[in-house]
Amino acid sequence: MTRALWERPVAFVGGAWVDVDRSRAVVDPATEQPIGTAADCDPALVDAAVRAAASAAASWGQTPAEERASAIARLHTELVRRREQLVDTIVAEVGAPLRTARDAHVDVALDVLRWYAEQVDPGWFEYTIGNSRVVRQPAGVAACITPWNYPLYQLVVKLAPALLAGCPVVIKPAELAPLTAYLLVDAAVDAALPPGVVNLVPGSGAETGDALVRHPLVALISFTGSTAVGRQVASLAALRCKRVGLELGGKSASIVLDGAPLETAVRATVDSATLNSGQTCSAWTRLLVPASRYEEAVSLAGRDMAALVVGDPRDVRTDLGPLISAEQRRRVHDLVDRASAVGARIIRADRALPAVGYFTEPVVVADVDATTEIAREEVFGPVLTLLPHHGQEDAIASANASPYGLGGAVWAATEAQGLAVARRLRTGQVDVNGAEFNLAAPFGGFGASGTGRELGLAGLEEYTELQAIQT
Ligand code: NAD
Repeated sequence: MTRALWERPVAFVGGAWVDVDRSRAVVDPATEQPIGTAADCDPALVDAAVRAAASAAASWGQTPAEERASAIARLHTELVRRREQLVDTIVAEVGAPLRTARDAHVDVALDVLRWYAEQVDPGWFEYTIGNSRVVRQPAGVAACITPWNYPLYQLVVKLAPALLAGCPVVIKPAELAPLTAYLLVDAAVDAALPPGVVNLVPGSGAETGDALVRHPLVALISFTGSTAVGRQVASLAALRCKRVGLELGGKSASIVLDGAPLETAVRATVDSATLNSGQTCSAWTRLLVPASRYEEAVSLAGRDMAALVVGDPRDVRTDLGPLISAEQRRRVHDLVDRASAVGARIIRADRALPAVGYFTEPVVVADVDATTEIAREEVFGPVLTLLPHHGQEDAIASANASPYGLGGAVWAATEAQGLAVARRLRTGQVDVNGAEFNLAAPFGGFGASGTGRELGLAGLEEYTELQAIQT
């Protein structure tokens, strides 16, 4: 199958692939060459997809949760069969290095699916309090709108809980990286998901995404993307009383406290800031270090950045591939240039980058004020800004000064101190002393980083409405 799916523009509506007359070429950011064609769906096709989903809503919603979980397990199996193809496709359309594509894109997404396939506790879906039976009903048709940076993971964290909750979905992947979504839907077909339960309408945000958000039969919008677009989506949803989940941008702080292992903290923060070429919403892109160790931290960060291998994403030794597009690279360069113009120290290794592809040099930015643009705005490229702090209270205040609140890290001499500081951070995720990512824990943002949560039971809850039945 599958390569044929992106040799001509198709959408998936009501259990069938349908030809679409408008298309968009998908480009490999490492070669700048076209690698496939995605459909560019118009509002009429969006309407057909939403109606197909609405037709499937009653029977899918009434399907026992165990059967819905079995369908997710079958989807997991089908995606495992396609693992290498998924990796290759993500390398090709995102430019993610092979190791990143395998570990951070595909395997995490597979783990999320498996986790939801195992969540069938009947006590979660229905419980009794006093004379009430509280039932978690499916919310209805869910529109899933995703960005290009993690095209499989971002879809799976919506699709898996939506399916388990009993919601049919209409998927609108990002224009720049829609091919992985075709593989996901192809797997859903082989997993025998009922017609109408999963629908796919690739296309632009302004037309296809907008039609989906406005559609009266869409009950819930789960949106991951930029804060600017998230605000628009939320206001349209509010006018129509639709539920909305927003996973938006970030400018997450990694705080190193006095007595913490500086070298380990700097290394982990550089890795976080440059994961997926810095195109990760929860990346730690501000490193706050004790003022007395600022110069040492700058030099360690510069050394660690210089050690990263930038180049061919298909080479297993590569740490950073290209950025997603020429426009994204220009945006990153403009932000760094503006920082430089206001006196920032820009530390880069001046490597020889490939002549073709949207590659960029990872950089450390030092000697800026916390109020400068580079210290406040999301860059979405491999840029780490270092800021000094004057003790624990100052570090907390500085971390919380951001309008965003998505990720974060605390490096402390003791876990107790790390935990105490973490509790005071206004952000959705905090890792103390390099703790591991936990896919059963809620993920989401405070403030400009969004509303609602993905992952875990909190992520499942987003796709349900509570009903109390008194007897
Ligand atoms: P984007 O906001 O431009 O687009 C995201 C999606 O929304 C795309 O599918 C796009 O086509 C669609 N869209 C655009 N305009 C729309 C409209 N008017 N109506 C409906 N849909 C519309 O974001 P992007 O550039 O693709 O992704 C990068 C951004 O995503 C970054 O800001 C990043 O921080 C954020 N992000 C957040 C998370 C998170 O979990 N919080 C995860 C990944 C990315």
